[in-house]
Amino acid sequence: MESILINKPREIYVSEREIPVPGSKEVLIKVMASGICGTDVHIFKGEYLGAYPVIPGHEFSGVITALGDQITRFKLGDRVAVEPNIACDNCIHCLNNRQNFCLNWQAIGVTLPGGMEQYVAVPEKAVFNIEDMPFDHGAFVEPLSCVVHGVERAHIKMGDNIAILGAGPIGDLLLQMARLQGASSITMLENNPGRAELAHQLGADQVVSRLEDLQVNTYDVVIDATGVIPVMNRSIDFVRSGGTVLLFGVPPSGQKLELEAFKIFQKGLTILSSYTSVRNSFQAINLLKTGQIRVDPLISHHLPLKNLPKAFEMIENHDPTVKKIIMLPNG
Ligand SMILES: [Zn+2]
Ligand SMILES: [Zn+2]
Repeated sequence: MESILINKPREIYVSEREIPVPGSKEVLIKVMASGICGTDVHIFKGEYLGAYPVIPGHEFSGVITALGDQITRFKLGDRVAVEPNIACDNCIHCLNNRQNFCLNWQAIGVTLPGGMEQYVAVPEKAVFNIEDMPFDHGAFVEPLSCVVHGVERAHIKMGDNIAILGAGPIGDLLLQMARLQGASSITMLENNPGRAELAHQLGADQVVSRLEDLQVNTYDVVIDATGVIPVMNRSIDFVRSGGTVLLFGVPPSGQKLELEAFKIFQKGLTILSSYTSVRNSFQAINLLKTGQIRVDPLISHHLPLKNLPKAFEMIENHDPTVKKIIMLPNG
């Protein structure tokens, strides 16, 4: 089968390998849709956790084509999405329902072979039935799970005035989730005109293109969805006193924030991060299945698997047409 290997940072190529045989507690998934995430780009650039070589792709869906002998929840032909974080279920964090901090953490597409290949063997406990959901919607189960977790952490309340920095696919999911939570006004920061237009269509009340156009000391919750350090540095200026800042975007590893400590103290801020998700897949599937979260407008490209290196190039060059790119490993 065809797979895409990141051999080491910035070295990526198409390779051939044997279709894996699922272990007794694993299912084999024929990957039908595999979304590119900012994290994949960080892995490609050597800015993230993970062991090389790696087959990337942690946002994917497909069809079950083989079953291990101890599988109980699935049958051949089931349509499924994958929760890529594999916890050990037996460390101090797992035993406290903090599986996202598992001491023996592994993740499909980060430390284990991911969805940027034609077939992946996945432990049953990481697999969720998506029934008749389109596969490219299924590829959003993972990012939406992370967004659900983040929004739950931020405690958005009825009537809140929210600012979201960045209107990429994650910003657009955050926008829709904040609305569902009852936000009365949502302002987004985005300088790409196409993305700004889409944010309007998805219900943003205002979209501004420059940090200076945001209001200072105003928003109940400010969410960074850029992971860009200079933008994150300004987040504490826009939140009101007593408000919450959620640092959601993935920054490059090894870089430091510069925040005025006295300002954080005086404003009584709550500053949060959000790391992956903790068993939020059912919530994400329900929100996608019922159309409460719309993802079709977020998808800009469907590409054959071998075009992954080119897709990374488009993302790195800030191609203005790029939103979510879905790779199609099986055509
Ligand atoms: Zn992701
Ligand atoms: Zn664990």
